[in-house]
Amino acid sequence: MKRKLIILLASVLAIFAGLAPVSIAIWLAYQTTLSTAESSLRNIAQAIAVDTSKTLQDIDEALIALSGLSYECTSEDVAVMNTMAYDIPEISAIGLIRPDRKLVCTSWGVMDPPAEPELPPPVQGFRLVGPLKIRMMQRYGLVALRQWQNGSEIGALIHPSVLIGHLGADLGEHGFAVLIRREDNHLFARKGNVPEMQMVASQTEAEEGATQLRAHFRDGIERTLVAVELDGYPGIYSVTAASDSWILRDWVRMALVLGAIGLGTSMILLFLVLAIMRRRLSLQGELQRSLQKNEFEVRYQPVIDLQENKCVGAEALINWVHPDGRQVRPDLFIPLAEDTGLIEPMTEWLMKQLRDEVAGLLAEDRSLHIAINLSPCHFESSRILKTTSQFFGNTAIRPEQIIYEITERGLIAENSGIARDVMKSLRKRESHIALDDFGTGYSSLSYISSFPLDYLKIDKSFIDAIGTDALTSGLVDSIIDMAKRLELRIIAEGVETREQVDYLRQHGVDYAQGWYFSKSMPIEPFREFVRAYNKC
Ligand code: C2E
Ligand code: CA
Ligand code: CA
Repeated sequence: MKRKLIILLASVLAIFAGLAPVSIAIWLAYQTTLSTAESSLRNIAQAIAVDTSKTLQDIDEALIALSGLSYECTSEDVAVMNTMAYDIPEISAIGLIRPDRKLVCTSWGVMDPPAEPELPPPVQGFRLVGPLKIRMMQRYGLVALRQWQNGSEIGALIHPSVLIGHLGADLGEHGFAVLIRREDNHLFARKGNVPEMQMVASQTEAEEGATQLRAHFRDGIERTLVAVELDGYPGIYSVTAASDSWILRDWVRMALVLGAIGLGTSMILLFLVLAIMRRRLSLQGELQRSLQKNEFEVRYQPVIDLQENKCVGAEALINWVHPDGRQVRPDLFIPLAEDTGLIEPMTEWLMKQLRDEVAGLLAEDRSLHIAINLSPCHFESSRILKTTSQFFGNTAIRPEQIIYEITERGLIAENSGIARDVMKSLRKRESHIALDDFGTGYSSLSYISSFPLDYLKIDKSFIDAIGTDALTSGLVDSIIDMAKRLELRIIAEGVETREQVDYLRQHGVDYAQGWYFSKSMPIEPFREFVRAYNKC
């Protein structure tokens, strides 16, 4: 990858690394605030429902306990009612209403004449009415009524503050809490300003029997409402409502906190991206400088003819030797060199080095060869043809003594036909082509056979499996078989044991290289190796 592209990519990554955590934090803050506020609105409605139904139950139990009264308004009746009103704090007074709808006596005493309260029509069992004006006190109150079978009723006067007390939570300037009868939207108690509802925008069944809705109100403010039905008192609901300004009141604070965390994360990510970019650029720069300063070395790994037991040449491997003596393996810098285009000058350097180092040896023994690794990009244009002529044209190295290695990866990447043409041209000069790391690229037999190849190099991973129970152990035989069918000579790579050598030899493999014979080495020791090996 070119320097500019790396910078561009890193900048895009850095911007993304910077923006993503902050945006995620803000979005998270919004979502969290929303769901926290909605659930607190729900909790308040539920608490009101529980408290109110408990109060109504206490009152109703008190009324039921008074079912034995004579309804004759005896002083005993009055006394019992008075005691009950005193004992139950939610009840202000108790009264008896005859079937003719006349209030005949209360816990305060006998009514003479009986009063005629304006009550809605009676229903069997329990009901809540009000707030209605209690005439004798000129005050408003709620009345809990229970009608008996004979048509008479007993009622408990409840001070409005008792139920309003349950609606206590602060829901903001536009929020409110109400106790409502759904049937006719009659309000028993309210806390806060309750404007008329215009329309319901959406409704969802939320958890535990609560209904959540968005509604428009006459005052133009949209609110979220939560309604919970009172347990044991069907049709009566506790409703809480809040405007968006209350719901999102904590949003900015949370966004700031999470945003700060997001910003911190962004900074760390940004720092990491920049550090990686710097490292990559500096490694790239270092590689470039090292190339100019000649800090590379060619190492030669001998290739052995298994049938003749002769050293027939070597694979040239480039090594990076730092001035401090540190050696960097090609695995670490070749991919970067390929990405940045530095592989081209690096290969030229290698060829120049080979010309200087091995020309003499190859001239002494024409049966020796040298294998050069080429990268996939070398097969993307015909430039490599010029480079090879430039470096090996007028030297003692004959083209037929050179094997160019291309990886299976390189073949797969090829789709323009240029690679085939380059390979054909190299072969026309009588150089050879080897398919490196064979077996790791999963290419098919017919695909491989469409390329002009001379050698197949079986990857070390398959050689490692020889003599083991590994799944790949059987594959060596198929690869050998495949190479023979394609009429290609075989080089086994990474041979480390005697057992592997015997196996390969028995199975008719032509050549092998690996630590069993020798590690890669500089030119002088290699020269010695060839001399010594081929003498015996
Ligand atoms: P490769 O072409 O498959 O080279 C063989 C690698 O296996 C070498 O590693 C070699 O040292 C190692 N090897 C050989 N025999 C044995 C063995 O018995 N046991 C073990 N464990 N390893 C063994 P190296 O030198 O690190 O090279 C790694 C890769 O770097 C090479 O793999 C090749 O793809 C690439 N490379 C090396 N030099 C060049 C070059 O000049 N140009 C290009 N394009 N690539 C190169
Ligand atoms: Ca190779
Ligand atoms: Ca290889």
